[in-house]
Amino acid sequence: MRRARLSRILAVTGTGTGVGKTVLTAALCAALRQRGVDCRALKPVATGVAAGEEGEDASLLRLASAATAPAVLETFRLPRSPLAAAAAEGREVDIEALVRSVEARAGECDLLLVEGVGGLLVPLTRRRTVRDLLRRLDAELLIAAPAGLGTINHTALTVEAARGAGLRLLGVVLVDAHGEDDPGFVAENAAQIAEQCAIPVLGVLAHVGDPTDIDALAEAAGELDLSPLLEEPADATAAVVAADRGHVWHPFTQTSEWREEEPLTIRSGDGCWLIDESGRRYLDGVSSLWCSVHGHAHPALDRAAHEQLGRIAHSTFLGQTHAPGALLAEELAAAAPPGLNRVFYCEAGAAAVEVALRIALLAQRHAGHPERTRFVALGDAYHGDTAGAVSVGRSEPFHTGLDPLLFPARTVPSPHLDEAASLQALAALLDVEGDEVAALIVEPRVQAAAGMLTHGDGWLRAASGLAHRHGALFIADEVATGFGRTGDLFASAGAGVAPDVLCLGKGLSGGYLPLSAVMTTEEVFDRFTAPYLEHRTLYYGHTYTGNPVACAVARASLRLFEEEATLASARRLAGTLERLLDERVAGLPAVFEIRRRGVMTGIELRAGGTPFDPALRVGRRTILAARERGVVVRPLADTVVLNPPLVMPDVEAELLVTAVAEAIAEVTGRLS
Ligand code: PMP
Repeated sequence: MRRARLSRILAVTGTGTGVGKTVLTAALCAALRQRGVDCRALKPVATGVAAGEEGEDASLLRLASAATAPAVLETFRLPRSPLAAAAAEGREVDIEALVRSVEARAGECDLLLVEGVGGLLVPLTRRRTVRDLLRRLDAELLIAAPAGLGTINHTALTVEAARGAGLRLLGVVLVDAHGEDDPGFVAENAAQIAEQCAIPVLGVLAHVGDPTDIDALAEAAGELDLSPLLEEPADATAAVVAADRGHVWHPFTQTSEWREEEPLTIRSGDGCWLIDESGRRYLDGVSSLWCSVHGHAHPALDRAAHEQLGRIAHSTFLGQTHAPGALLAEELAAAAPPGLNRVFYCEAGAAAVEVALRIALLAQRHAGHPERTRFVALGDAYHGDTAGAVSVGRSEPFHTGLDPLLFPARTVPSPHLDEAASLQALAALLDVEGDEVAALIVEPRVQAAAGMLTHGDGWLRAASGLAHRHGALFIADEVATGFGRTGDLFASAGAGVAPDVLCLGKGLSGGYLPLSAVMTTEEVFDRFTAPYLEHRTLYYGHTYTGNPVACAVARASLRLFEEEATLASARRLAGTLERLLDERVAGLPAVFEIRRRGVMTGIELRAGGTPFDPALRVGRRTILAARERGVVVRPLADTVVLNPPLVMPDVEAELLVTAVAEAIAEVTGRLS
């Protein structure tokens, strides 16, 4: 599952079909081989090739590679796009199978040149293009472009398409396919492309009369600047780690431990996978801190971000508006639990909680209840790290020493162990102090950061009912549970509860950009609407509040819930996780309890029923052992958390659970 990158994959794409990329690929291969590089060339897919034949292009690549193995992996008879040619034969291009074959070939040499099919956006399947394949291969990219008229536009478009997908561009080679281009004009094109696209142009591949003359091809390529192909790519990991070690202070990370660790340096993402700077792939078992909903680098979300960036990256939401922010609010109001019609944007979950508390306090005040100043929270609650959020979610040992910053909140026991006792305590507290309570704040269904402590929907309904009966507002903090994590779009709505205030974050932007929101009823909102001098304005808001790029992506993410039936995926994945955890994890001796709601999962590890000595750092060691197996998860103390993207396919869920089971067995087995 974890690929140790030994060799390099360099893709050669054309600005279109017939620009000479096969000749360029073969010429580069031959020239590099002459310079002692163990280089081969390969075409993953060729169309217009009769069954059982390799085709002209692949034959040339094989010759240039001095190899006997066929230089093509898949052929289709019709000279059409691979999608269409495959469909005509009742087949479909299997991208993952191609990737496995290309990687196997790359493992047999030092540098594998992979020739694209047509241009970058040629469809391979209904949903995936050549560009997706190259991204999946983590390939560097060289662009073959015609030397003459029209090349600037086509090359610039190709460069944009490559950069838009984060492909690492090595440069452009102009190909004088027919030997007819005026050298002065070609040089002018090369200079313009280099400047306009800010990309190296490695030279012009001169016309070769007989392209099967490998020596002539090598000679032509020898005129190009081959240095980017000959030099070992710089080890980006080392530079990142050095800069990090020298200058970064990481959140929730003990520096003494971080210094000992080999840091994970993430360069890119692909579906449910993270790719590090060396090209190793890791399954993202926690959705990059419970955020990624539809997986990384989803084309629809990428498109939404790019389109909005093309218009404007940011404009203030203070006293102005914009389409992404306004339309997202309308769409959230349609999707949210009944009655929640107003949206106030922030960036972090904690900031959403912070403003939710203010809204509750001031809404009570504006309704004639300045005496309602208290907040009731649950034991083990976590609502974020700002002072207000910590006040309603103080936990040892995180918040020791912070008391001078905090206000005293009332706490009732978490319902996780005893719902009746929790409810009784809430009722008793409200009986005595109910008239002074502004709001009850709850993480519906799952107290996530406490270690995925679950409670039933009945408790939730009873608790919100009690709050309302005593005139308190009910704040649902769905920063963690929102957007499908518990199997419903929102846990509170799924439980049949109508909050007065709802906090959203994490998955709101599909896991793309920092965006959070507070939603309220129109009734709460109206309490803030008055003549200016009454000072009911909500004096709160951050510089980047309602960032339009984040809002545009959030809109696209909401649309995906419909278009890709994401909630159905989430429920299916929850079932798969339940089965796999039962089969592979539940029986391990150190597994004390598995707590789960939807895809939110906590696996608590203990030594025969008693917690491990915290100094043993069992949770941390387990996730490091999982990382060795190509899986990224994060612990909450000695509870290993799984919270994968909602779209994780079953095969990947199986990799995830298996790796975690092995990691638990390895670490806890060693201890006993
Ligand atoms: N509320 C809940 C329920 C959370 O789980 C979290 C974060 N885990 C927060 C608030 C705080 O969100 P953020 O880290 O984005 O500030």
